[in-house]
Amino acid sequence: MSVASIEREQENAVTSRYDRASRIATEFINDQEILDTIAFAQSNRNNRELISSILERAQDCKGLTHREAAVLLECGLDDQNEKMKLLAKEIKQKFYGNRIVMFAPLYLSNYCVNGCLYCPYHHSNTTIVRKKLSQEDIAREVIALQDMGHKRLALEAGEDPVNNPIEYILESIRTIYSIKHKNGAIRRVNVNIAATTVEDYRKLKDAGIGTYILFQETYHKQTYERLHPTGPKNDYAYHTEAMDRAMEAGIDDVGIGVLFGLNTYRYDFVGMLMHAEHLEAVWGVGPHTISVPRICPADDVRPGDFSNAISDDVFAKIVTVLRIAVPYTGMIVSTRESKKTRERVLELGVSQISGGSRTTVGGYAEPEPADENSAQFDISDTRTLDEIVNWLLSLGYIPSFCTACYREGRTGDRFMNLVKSGQIANCCQPNALMTLKEYLEDYASPETRAKGEAVIAKEVLRIPKEKVRTLAMKYLSELSAGKRDFRF
Ligand code: SF4
Repeated sequence: MSVASIEREQENAVTSRYDRASRIATEFINDQEILDTIAFAQSNRNNRELISSILERAQDCKGLTHREAAVLLECGLDDQNEKMKLLAKEIKQKFYGNRIVMFAPLYLSNYCVNGCLYCPYHHSNTTIVRKKLSQEDIAREVIALQDMGHKRLALEAGEDPVNNPIEYILESIRTIYSIKHKNGAIRRVNVNIAATTVEDYRKLKDAGIGTYILFQETYHKQTYERLHPTGPKNDYAYHTEAMDRAMEAGIDDVGIGVLFGLNTYRYDFVGMLMHAEHLEAVWGVGPHTISVPRICPADDVRPGDFSNAISDDVFAKIVTVLRIAVPYTGMIVSTRESKKTRERVLELGVSQISGGSRTTVGGYAEPEPADENSAQFDISDTRTLDEIVNWLLSLGYIPSFCTACYREGRTGDRFMNLVKSGQIANCCQPNALMTLKEYLEDYASPETRAKGEAVIAKEVLRIPKEKVRTLAMKYLSELSAGKRDFRF
């Protein structure tokens, strides 16, 4: 922790209050407000009148406050919990239809100077194999990802100013965007790197990143500090205020998340919603995405060591209430979760999933030898991308490889306004179908292709505007004839 942070903390100890528009971490994530919210929710867990009124209000799809959402999360009435699920499904259908956006993580380096107790990349782990990709390695990884059919990546790297400086990240982004293999291209690079300065965030913005993703891990300050005993990540305020610096630098799509299991889920659920409210209050736009990872096994990490690990039922409830509380925000689950769990939460509100993922450094181009392990976590859903696309199609979803909003400048509040007005259906539906069509033409197995073509033929008729529908049909037949990369 820096001297400035310590001084600021001393000031905060005296003045700390809840103010969602404050730029001070302990004011917009105010501990007392979270505790009061949890106490309020627990004392109303069977308050039928209040719960019904919150659910009724939520039908306007304008979202909920953290207090209202906390009451729903705590709700102990079976019939109201069933209503909640139905409402979450309705909201999901209204804003996302049956589209599921696909992405893959790309691990650049597992060197890290931090001491995070829940991550095998922590600097004192001597059993993990340390690796950092060269630009040539990255090119090989990108070709392997393009050959699977991916168009959207999430870059991952540990925090290490010597091994992974910002220049390395920027060069890697340039390499990724430059590779055009056969009909492949990575069209959106989201970046998940450590909290940094406004200046570095500007560089990321200029490099053309999509979303800047940073998980809070836990919003509970004391727990956060205990779990991050060493390294720059120990500074709670610097980490918690990172999204403000990113937005100040002009990055208007940010992705937040906590690692459920590190702390009590109630606390982090409320903290995460307060963070979303804060971003909306200060920057006029909430988070573009919320991720809901749960702690899972990894090299020297055993989930059993974390007593706050959550059950599948609680996990599904969190997804349900988040969908209702932040209707316009994308929700992401990774391959940390099993096929069964992913199927359950897709229905309740998740809109984006990874597929065919490797969490090892360099694992796409070359599988890691059995006696080496460079992975950040063990994958539960080990299916190939084709198997996942096939499965989604069978469940009635449209796997989407779309990156159009970002490429058309529909980011931040422009994107949110489009979602809120419902107009997104005239962009997302055709874009999803056209990018699925590209996938089917270039990468799918015959079985997946047949299923996908049938879905496209049916779904294209559901595009609301006739003009868009006609144009989409024309583009789809041009894709069959070999053209690529159409978008609305
Ligand atoms: S969570 Fe991030 S900062 Fe912490 S050890 Fe892992 S890679 Fe490093």
